Amino acid sequence: MNQNIRVRFAPSPTGPLHIGGLRTALFNYLFARKHGGTFIMRIEDTDQTRFVPGAEDYIVESLEWCGLIPDEGPRQGGGFGPYRQSERKNLYEEYAMELILKGYAYYAFDTPEELENLRKKQEAKGETFVYDASVRESLKNSLTMDEQAVEKSIVSGTPYVIRFKFESNQVIEMQDLVRGELSVNSSTLDDKILFKSDGMPTYHLANVVDDNLMAISHVIRGEEWLPSLPLHVSLYRAFGWEHLMPQFAHLPLILKPTGKGKLSKRDGEKGGFPVFPLDWKDPESGEISPGYREEGYQSDACINMLALLGWNPGTEQELFTLEELIFEFQLEKVGKSGSRFDPEKAKWFNHQHLQMMPDGDMIAAFYKALKLNGVNCDKCQIETLIPIIKPRINFIHEVWDQSWFFFQAPSSFDPGVIKKRWREDTPDQMSLLVEAIQDCEPFTIESIESGVKGLIVEKQWGMGTIMNAWRLLLVGAARGPGLFELAAFLGKAEVINRMKTGIEQINR
Ligand code: GLU
Repeated sequence: MNQNIRVRFAPSPTGPLHIGGLRTALFNYLFARKHGGTFIMRIEDTDQTRFVPGAEDYIVESLEWCGLIPDEGPRQGGGFGPYRQSERKNLYEEYAMELILKGYAYYAFDTPEELENLRKKQEAKGETFVYDASVRESLKNSLTMDEQAVEKSIVSGTPYVIRFKFESNQVIEMQDLVRGELSVNSSTLDDKILFKSDGMPTYHLANVVDDNLMAISHVIRGEEWLPSLPLHVSLYRAFGWEHLMPQFAHLPLILKPTGKGKLSKRDGEKGGFPVFPLDWKDPESGEISPGYREEGYQSDACINMLALLGWNPGTEQELFTLEELIFEFQLEKVGKSGSRFDPEKAKWFNHQHLQMMPDGDMIAAFYKALKLNGVNCDKCQIETLIPIIKPRINFIHEVWDQSWFFFQAPSSFDPGVIKKRWREDTPDQMSLLVEAIQDCEPFTIESIESGVKGLIVEKQWGMGTIMNAWRLLLVGAARGPGLFELAAFLGKAEVINRMKTGIEQINR
């Protein structure tokens, strides 16, 4: 165990976890495992107005589905808990006070109405109101009020917030493992609220305090948090923790399939693909958003797909197990630019991971899929089916659609195929084929193939014509796997029965 490497996944339980959030968890997990470090889960639930019941359970279940189990967290416990910020709420105020005492923060008593008015006034001038060094000297705060007035306001219960005080015109230098050296002028930043009038810290204060108290070494999170970095870095400096500051890595956005803009829930709805790991039922509207798990994806395929959204192994390899990802993963190989999400590629990953599935698991999955459709197959039959069906499916739930004709005779015959493939002489040809099949002994793939092909050659028929008509009789349509394999599986009696019934029905 490398005690110096400690990373955290810090979701806010404000709704279902987007696949972008799952990717953040995955990269944290990979980094921790690769370096023998600790993977921590911290629930950031200080914004009570955005709290959604069930969201934390959903996040935990999503990680469990993917096998990304935290070493420390609300469920696991650990030496740095509690791991839910709402359970730590009493410890943040003193940090806000410390900043006030050091002159890095101040009380602000401006009411929401007053701020709204200022906003409107600025808007009317075509400008945006920003609470910063240029205006704070003219507003109602502990920088403009005398000590007694501040004291009186607090004692009398006047609501206040605590704001960070950015000095004007300072260059803030930052380092990011993905983006390198960054800098920003403090005059472009507003005096962000650190502590709210409801007695709770904001995300910024709680996040930095907790990262420090939990001895986090690397903050790996989405690019949407990059604009917060100057404040976070300034907070570390203000607290005097610069030497303990974690290293930062901001992961690139996951983009829409068009490549333009961030992948959203609406893109999933429009394109018919999930953007959440599991089904999510909105507790208010009851609306259900589909999840990868319920759509039939394997979690290993999902993880493989997510890993390659933003990270590049530097080789042509695309298929990875979780163990291989742990071995290969490097933060240095995370790219700066957004990665386009491709729903077709997601299916491809699932197809590939199905092909990699261990035999025992595959047998069990086939057994379940067939049983669900009333077929009780023995192990031997399933083992015959697997090599025929497996290459043809992207998802386990497609097993039945690709294999029902192994267990049931077609109940109808595709009229389009009849029109195209069933000619005047086809019934006679098929009757002769029945006779040839009768003679195949033993009834194996090889003997059927040589019997059928022998007849075609002898009669100088077209191979395609005969095979298409034969397929129509056995399957009812122009689809399905190799016919010799299918016939051998069905057995002679069933093949002949299907052929005779088909010839009769089509000719009726
Ligand atoms: N609570 C933040 C979120 O929901 C965490 C951001 C961070 O990792 O610092 O993404």
